[in-house]
Amino acid sequence: MCTDMPRRNQTPKHLPYKRIQAVHSKQRFNNQVDAHDAAELRMFEHPELKLHVYKCPECFGWHLTRDKDI
Ligand SMILES: [Zn+2]
Repeated sequence: MCTDMPRRNQTPKHLPYKRIQAVHSKQRFNNQVDAHDAAELRMFEHPELKLHVYKCPECFGWHLTRDKDI
């Protein structure tokens, strides 16, 4: 019968990309300047907030983080 089907190319190539998108769905910046501007705006609106900009090794984008998260 046909139970022995070929199993090549079973792994979808877009899976890692989708996973990254899910992890970083909240905020991601393409460069440090954009991230820094967004951080400054947030801190202006919320003076009690202290944000830092860091480069993400997973998506190679930039994110904002609070002091305690580092
Ligand atoms: Zn990231």
